[in-house]
Order: sequence, then C-alpha cells, then structure tokens
Amino acid sequence: MYKLEAHLHTKGNSACAKVSAQEIATLYQEKGYNGIVCTNHFSKYILNKYFKSVKEEDKLDCFLKGYYELKSACEEKGIDVFFGVEFALKNDDYNCVHHLRCTEILVYGITPDELKAYGKDVIKMSYKELYEFSRGKGWLIIQAHPYRERTKRVKHQFLDGLEVYNGHPYHVARNAKSLARARKYNLLTTAGSDFHFVGGEGSAMLFESRISSEKELVEAIKSQKFTIIEGAKHE
Ligand SMILES: [Zn+2]
Ligand SMILES: [Zn+2]
Repeated sequence: MYKLEAHLHTKGNSACAKVSAQEIATLYQEKGYNGIVCTNHFSKYILNKYFKSVKEEDKLDCFLKGYYELKSACEEKGIDVFFGVEFALKNDDYNCVHHLRCTEILVYGITPDELKAYGKDVIKMSYKELYEFSRGKGWLIIQAHPYRERTKRVKHQFLDGLEVYNGHPYHVARNAKSLARARKYNLLTTAGSDFHFVGGEGSAMLFESRISSEKELVEAIKSQKFTIIEGAKHE
C-alpha cells in the first residue's frame, strides 16, 4: 500500500504553517507515510504581504524553497515528495477574517517550472479562465475544503474535482456535503490533512501501488482507486 498526504504546508511559505521540512520528514516517517504532495499557498496575499520584504525577482524562488527543502529532507527518509500548489485567485484568499466568499484551488500535476512561468498570471484569472488554461497541461483543478466556513463553491464546470475529506482540526469542513456534491456532478475526489502544525497530520489517500512522479499522481487521482484514511478531524 502507498500512503499519501495530498495536502500539506511547510513553515516559511505562509504564516499559518508552523512545521519545518526536517520536522515534517521525521513526523511523517513515524506515521508511516510513503509520499507527500507539498501544496503551499500561492496568492496575491502571499506574494505581496507575506513575502513583502523579498525582492520581486526572488519571490518565486522563495516560494519554491519550501518544496525543495521538504523534498531533500523526506527523500533521505524514503518518503517521496511531489509538487502541488494551493492557489487563491484574485481576492478570494482566507486571510481577511471579514471576507466571506473565499475559495482555494489545489492544483496537482503542475511543475515548479510551470509555477514560475504562469503562477503570477494564474492568480489574476477567473475560475473559468484557470480551468480553460489548465486543459492540455495535465493539471487537475480541485477545490479544497469546498464547505469550510466562509467558502464559496466554484461552479462544477470549472473543476476536475473536490477535496472530499479535509482533516484540518480547527475548521469545520462539512466533508459529507463535499462528497455528496462530488457524486452529484461526477467530479474526482481527493483527501488530505491540510497539515500546518503538529497534530494536524493523520489523514491520507491510501493507494494500492507506488506513485513516483507528478504525472503518475494525476493518473492515480483520476483512477479514483484509493481509500481515505481519516485523521485528526472527528466529525
Ligand atoms: Zn486551504
Ligand atoms: Zn491548505
């Protein structure tokens, strides 16, 4: 079996993420994970506010640092690390607590080079534009935690799938509603811990065989042949 974390954040990429690459590698080895998709936040807010003191031309490399650090720390321990991104488009990020119509999009199959080439354009796009832009690139467009508090749902026509199990222990995910919506519109499903701090781990997608690249990750998600391990959240 192949135990995959499909939703994780590393320290240094957003204020909400508290755990360093080295600590994640140790923790995830203890918990028996075989692979991790590093899905750090990428948005106008992260670029302009969180990376405020970073020179404009260095911001993308600064964003990618978390992924590369995790990759080297985990690979020493035999855990695969894949690249992914959790985007917020335009002003739809969750950082302003008064903003009630937030959305985040997990993109699987994207490469670090594609993030460098297109990332800054992607966050200016509408959901329709992102969906159309992603066709032919081998990306999967998945709405993260679509029934979390303060969240608006993206039209199903502009998505490949929904995260139907989000294990973040401090948010209300209403995962059952997400699964029902995925079934209704025949969308792909994914699951993950949405790991930000120790104690938030434990959720996983359990596949029958090893995944060894971002392309295989996309195929594995498309196959929908996995079971979900429910982690920290109990609802
Ligand atoms: Zn999120
Ligand atoms: Zn997240």
